[in-house]
Formats: sequence, structure tokens, C-alpha cells
Amino acid sequence: IKDMADDEAIQATNDDASECKRYAVQLGYWSDPFINFFVKQTGRKAPEINRGYFARVKGIEVFIDKFLKLSGEKGQIINLGAGFDTLYWRLKEAGKTPINFVELDFPSITARKCYHIKKRKHLIDMLNTEDGEIRFSTTDLHAANYHLVGTDLRHISELINKLTEAEVNFNLPTMFLAECVLVYIDTSAVSTLLKWLAAKFSNSLFVNYEQVNMKDKFGQVMLSNLRSRGCLLAGVEDCESLETQQRRFTINNWEGSNAWTMVEVYDSLPQDDRSRIEHIEMLDERELLVQLLQHYCISVAWNGQTFKNLSIAQG
Ligand code: SAM
Repeated sequence: IKDMADDEAIQATNDDASECKRYAVQLGYWSDPFINFFVKQTGRKAPEINRGYFARVKGIEVFIDKFLKLSGEKGQIINLGAGFDTLYWRLKEAGKTPINFVELDFPSITARKCYHIKKRKHLIDMLNTEDGEIRFSTTDLHAANYHLVGTDLRHISELINKLTEAEVNFNLPTMFLAECVLVYIDTSAVSTLLKWLAAKFSNSLFVNYEQVNMKDKFGQVMLSNLRSRGCLLAGVEDCESLETQQRRFTINNWEGSNAWTMVEVYDSLPQDDRSRIEHIEMLDERELLVQLLQHYCISVAWNGQTFKNLSIAQG
């Protein structure tokens, strides 16, 4: 029962992320004409939170652009714990769709996402299908190059079936994306998942966004950091530092990895973009933003030569 309660609390973190994204989009931090199909009106969020989400979305975009460029027309994107992310439609609108795009989350979340997609002709029309066929079940949706599937990432045998149903080709260049997901899964299950992905996808890039620097000055994991929004952060040990973030990949058979705090990511974004969003809302103390950004990071890991040593620099 405790586990189920935790799973429900974990699923609720998706509502939180989607609401924050919708609020920042509404204020003009970045453009996302699709998020309002998935989330209703939301309450106000603090300026530093909005800037943090801006850095997260733009930072991830840098790696998506690099991945798509390096993989030619042959890349697949697999979003682990995708929640209500609108990335597929944003890429589609920008004319940058990969050859296949797969989203995985708990069936209760994918069922809700399926429901929202089914209701919106605009979203459906953008799922390109040569023969016009889209297959739906309560929890899964299969179109030509978009697949939304319900699964628990802790269960590898189920994951294999779901990836096969989603027409994933293990030999193509593949990017995995996990935004605030691994931290909710216990270390041994993450380890099994990362090892399995490393063994199956020899030409791949993993882009991970989550908490970092979770220890206080005495080297203790801060108690307030063990739970977030009421759920246990099972993987908090891996979020201790940039080094533990990187090591999580290399000890699980990924060839190499790198990691940056969101302070570094924010500072690497184009000056024009930063000036523009810094004028949207006043933030009296930059220190507040820095404190927040220091506790999040982007880490990347790779297998094979194509995606080796990517940097956060644009272009
Ligand atoms: N990545 C999305 C984003 O950035 O908007 C959602 C982030 S939300 C904080 C975390 C997501 O991970 C939730 O949708 C949750 O259901 C999913 N998740 C956590 N553990 C999972 C598991 N074991 N299997 C599948 N999905 C999981």
C-alpha cells in the first residue's frame, strides 16, 4: 500500500511540471502552442521558478538539436517518464521530427494523455500517418512515427514488449530523455534499466535532467531533500553531485558521460534569449535564481562515437 501511495504521489509530479510549464509559456518565456491542450489554467509561480523552467526547456533543446543534426534523418527519440510533455508537437511544428518518437510513462498517465490527444483534432491531425491509421487503446496510442505507451520503467520485460510495439529499431541512433524521472526510481531499478539500454542501443545518447548537490556542508543528504511533493526521492544518492550523476551512467556500462549544473546551462544560453526573458518579470535577487539552479543539472551519457563528448555550447 505504501508503494502504491508513493506511485500515485510520483504520478502527481507530472501535474506539477505541466502546470509550471504552462504558466511560464503563458507569460512568454518560450513558445508552446500545445501545452494548454493538456493542462488547464494554473496559479501564479515565482519568477525564479519560471526562469528555472526556461533554462530546463532551452537546455534540453540544445541537445535535441545536436542529436537530430548528428543522426541525420535516422534518429529516434525515446522520452522516459514523458508525462504531458509536448515535445513531439513542438518538433513537428518546427519541421524537425525524428524517424520515430516514443513516450513512456505509467499507464495511468498515458491514459490521461491519450484522452487529451483524442479530444483535440489539432493534435491528432499533426500525427502524420501515411495511411491515416491511428491505433488507440485506453493507455496506448500508435501513429506512424509517434507512439505513446503505458509501462512501469522498473519492469524491463514489459519495457521490451512496449518498445517493440512502438516499432523501435535497436540499430538506429537513439536519444533517451528523462526529465525529473530517474530520481523517483530506486537505484537498483535505474541500474538495471541503464544497463539494459546500454546493451541494446550501441549508438545512443542519454539526456537526463534532475536534482544535484543534495548534500549539505557536512556531507549529509539534506532531510528536506529526501521527499519532494510528498514522494520519496528513491534515487537521491545519485543526485549528490555532478560526479555521482556521471558515475551512475559509467558504472552501468555507458561509455562516457558529462554533467553541468543549471547555473552553467543558464549562462551558456544565448545572451539575447536571456535578456529577453529577464525582462518578463523582475527578480530582485539573482541569488535566489542561482541557489535554485545550483540544485539541478543536465547530465548526458553516450554509447558509440556519434554522440561522444557533446557540450552545452549552442550550435
Ligand atoms: N518528463 C516530464 C516533464 O518533464 O514534464 C514529466 C516529469 S514528472 C516530474 C515525472 C514523471 O515520471 C511522471 O509523469 C511519472 O509518472 C513518471 N515516472 C516516474 N517513475 C516512473 C516509472 N517507474 N515508470 C514510468 N514512469 C515513471
